Amino acid sequence: MLVVMKAQATPEQIQAVCEHIEQLGFRPHPLPGAQRTAIGITGNQGEVDRGNLESLPGVAEVIRVSKAYKLASRDVKEEDTVVRFAGTDATIGGRELAIVAGPCSIENRTQAFAIAEALAKAGAQFFRGGAYKPRTSPYAFQGLGLEALKIMAEIRDRFGMRIITEALDVESLERTAEWADVIQIGARNMQNFSLLRMAGRLRMPVLIKRGMSATLEEFLMAAEYVMSEGNYQVILCERGVRTFSDHARNTLDLSIVPALKRVSHLPILVDPSHGTGRRDSVLPMARAAVACGADGVMVEVHDHPEIALSDGPQSIYPAQFASMMNDLEQIAPVVGRRLPRGIDVAAAAQ
Ligand code: PEP
Ligand code: MN
Repeated sequence: MLVVMKAQATPEQIQAVCEHIEQLGFRPHPLPGAQRTAIGITGNQGEVDRGNLESLPGVAEVIRVSKAYKLASRDVKEEDTVVRFAGTDATIGGRELAIVAGPCSIENRTQAFAIAEALAKAGAQFFRGGAYKPRTSPYAFQGLGLEALKIMAEIRDRFGMRIITEALDVESLERTAEWADVIQIGARNMQNFSLLRMAGRLRMPVLIKRGMSATLEEFLMAAEYVMSEGNYQVILCERGVRTFSDHARNTLDLSIVPALKRVSHLPILVDPSHGTGRRDSVLPMARAAVACGADGVMVEVHDHPEIALSDGPQSIYPAQFASMMNDLEQIAPVVGRRLPRGIDVAAAAQ
C-alpha cells in the first residue's frame, strides 16, 4: 500500500500518517519527492484498511501497489533516486555519471596508491578495491581485510575519492561500514537475505550486484530487502549473467538497464569488467552501458595486471581508463548526461 500525500501536506501531517500506520502494526516509509511525499507501507500480509487512512488530513489518496517490490518501484517514487555524499559533489544517479574504478583486490599500499593516483588524475570520483574477496577457490588470495580498508581510507583522505568495497558476511559488514562510503553486496550474496537485512539497518549507501542468474524481479527484491529496513540509499549494478556463450566470462545484460529504469527509481551502474572478463571488451561495453542509459560504470583497473592477485585478465591499464573517460565524456551529452571530472571537494563544501 502507498499513501500519497497532497503537495501542500505539512511535515506534521506526514508524521501523523506515519504514526497512524505504526499504530496499525505496520511500517511506514516516507519517501519525499519533488512534487509530494509518498509513504510506503510494509509489514502487512493483506490489505490495509484504506478508509481510515484516506480520511487523515493531508492525504491525497491510498493506492494498492501490486508489484512484489514496492519501495524499489516507480509506483512508490516517481523521480530517480540520487545518492549523495557529504563533503563532495559526487553523486550516483541523476544527470551526472558515476565512475567507479580500482583494482579487484587491494594487494598492498604501493599498488593501491599507484592505481588511485592515476584514477584520480583521470577524474574518477569513486575508488573500488576488494578487502574481503569472494573467491571460488579457498586457496586463492582472500583479501587483506582490515589492512585494505585502512589503505582505502588513506586514499579517500589523499585524493577525495569515495570508497566502495564489498562486505562478504556479518563480520565484514560491520568493518566495511566503519571504513567505507558505500557497501557492496556481491553477486554471490545477492540473495543472502540476512546480510541484506543487516545492510538495510545501516544508514549508508549499499550497492547490490546482480546475482549470476537473477531475474529482474529477484534483483529488485534484493534491493527491497535493504529498503524494507529503512535504508533507501540503494544502487544496483549489472555485472553479467551466466549463459551458454563461451566467448566471455559472463554475458553482460545491458537490456536490463532500460528495463530497470522503466519500473524502478534506483540508480543502476554497469560493470563491464566482471560482465565480460576480458580487458579488450571492457571499453566497448562501458561505452555501450552509458549509451543505453546506465547511471555510470564500475571498472577494474590495475597498473600491472599480469601480476594481479585477482582478475588480472579483465583489468584495464590506467591509460585505457583515461581513454575510456574521454569516450564517455563525448557519449554522455548524447543521452542527456554529463561526465564530471574528479572531485571538487572545495566547491561542494561551500
Ligand atoms: C567485485 O566487484 O570485486 C566482485 C567480486 O564482483 P561480483 O560480485 O560481481 O562477482
Ligand atoms: Mn574482480
